[in-house]
Amino acid sequence: MEMRDTDRALVQAATAVAKLRCRSPHHTVASAARTTDGRVFTGVNVQHASGGACAELVVIGTAATQGVTALETIVTVADRGREVSVPCGDCRQVLHDHFPALRVIVGPVDDLRVVPLAELPAEAERGTAG
Ligand SMILES: [Zn+2]
Repeated sequence: MEMRDTDRALVQAATAVAKLRCRSPHHTVASAARTTDGRVFTGVNVQHASGGACAELVVIGTAATQGVTALETIVTVADRGREVSVPCGDCRQVLHDHFPALRVIVGPVDDLRVVPLAELPAEAERGTAG
């Protein structure tokens, strides 16, 4: 799928939150998600030995706190210039169950693209909580 201007803006939003808020081992990844009507929600992960919570789940909860239960697009950006990351397997399952038509922005920053959640490339590890 083509990257839209609103997709690029979403990457910028997640990148800004990662730079501003991911400055400790407790918070290392930021996600930003957009609704079809253009509202954007952001969140950071919560790292903890008990398992913590991925940034994607924090964003879902943040949106739900505002009464929003329909997200269209999501992107996750890691701290310290680690760029865009792919949701982990657990998050994919949650995202699939809540938003089966979700668009996910993936790829290196100089070659970002949008893929349907169901077509995400395989990922190696449970990375975004860490
Ligand atoms: Zn995850």
